Amino acid sequence: MDIVVQKYGGTSVGDLEKIKQVAARIKQKKESGCRLVVVVSAMGKTTDNLLSMAYNLSSRPKPRELDVLMSTGEQISISLLSIALNEIGCKARSFTGQQVGIITEGYHTKSKIADINSSIIIEELEKDSVVIIAGFQGVNGNNEITTLGRGGSDTTAVALAAKLGAVCEIFTDVDGIYTVDPRIYPNARKLECISYEEMMEMASLGAGVMHPRSIEIGHKYKVPIYVAMSTGEFPGTFIKESDDFMEKTVITGMAVDNNDAMVTVINLPYSTRSISRIFQSLAERHVNVDMISQTTPVNGLINVSFTIPKNDLAAAMDGLEELKPELGPFGIDTDTAITKLSVVGMGMRTQSGVAARMFTALSESNVDLKIITTSEIRISCAIDPKDQNRAVTAIAKEFDL
Ligand code: ADP
Ligand code: ASP
Ligand code: MG
Repeated sequence: MDIVVQKYGGTSVGDLEKIKQVAARIKQKKESGCRLVVVVSAMGKTTDNLLSMAYNLSSRPKPRELDVLMSTGEQISISLLSIALNEIGCKARSFTGQQVGIITEGYHTKSKIADINSSIIIEELEKDSVVIIAGFQGVNGNNEITTLGRGGSDTTAVALAAKLGAVCEIFTDVDGIYTVDPRIYPNARKLECISYEEMMEMASLGAGVMHPRSIEIGHKYKVPIYVAMSTGEFPGTFIKESDDFMEKTVITGMAVDNNDAMVTVINLPYSTRSISRIFQSLAERHVNVDMISQTTPVNGLINVSFTIPKNDLAAAMDGLEELKPELGPFGIDTDTAITKLSVVGMGMRTQSGVAARMFTALSESNVDLKIITTSEIRISCAIDPKDQNRAVTAIAKEFDL
């Protein structure tokens, strides 16, 4: 019998009524004849509420303690879902990440799954149980509870599917992957399928519908991923290897991200060493840098701008301040009012003129750019959040998104 891994997100298990509905769907799927592993997120806004309690007590809570705290959210939803399933006569058992052997490496609050010990899951499946597993959490080599970064339950599900040779169904509050987040641009189109590469770029550039690492794992292990509405209405979107059947458009989608901040280091001595020291100090603090730009030297001094997640701003500032005695009295400017817009598409590999079209559309809408970056299949720019709607509409119209 085939194994299917399903994942239900926070909204889909947001209250007891929804948990009952999810239980009914799981029972139906099980009875259709497959072995089922189900990953769930914390109910509704639970993780946000847990974090706000921690930040009420301290402006810099220890990441280890945040992991212990945040992992409790998923523990509630797995047990409730298992109770609801057993109540309707569908045998189920719930497990935390630690119990089921989801081994992680890396840092607290940003850990990565290194391995999964599938023996407990297989044993349970052989007993004909639905195996319910807490998303977003694991245990590291020091027996410490860890979490995978916000939205990480997708990664738990895809990693389990990779380990078990299963397909992965992601059930959420939207009926598939759209060209643009439909909450931001309601005219966006739903995609029938999208390639791993494009989804990976979209996810890491702010399309919060999937956790980026889940797509990385899906791509590596060729896990077929299907994203759909948890109620089962409407056909969803397949994330898979790119093939000839995919839409032949230059731009597949646009990601909009309001979670980044821009930092500018002003009057830095012009040397590769000073730049390397800056990025070393950010790396030591596990700060993820995205866009980078440098001005040409004037009187031996340069400005270097880069974008990082707002959550990492305090750590980045600590690192930069520590470098002042070594690199001289440079200034630091921070800008938390930025929106990052990125267009993504495999077609960019072969078609030229995409940047020209994007920047013409923005210029005709009087949108100023703060910083730009590109890769083989994406172009990103940071703009003022007040221009977001105008810019999104202009780009979506230009590329027919
Ligand atoms: P879950 O709790 O199920 O994991 P998320 O809130 O993490 O759900 O992800 C679903 C949300 O992702 C949608 O409600 C939607 O607003 C947002 N989203 C962002 N970009 C996209 C996109 N390109 N297509 C569909 N949804 C998107
Ligand atoms: N509960 C976690 C979060 O809110 C993980 C997830 O939802 O995927 O980030
Ligand atoms: Mg999510």
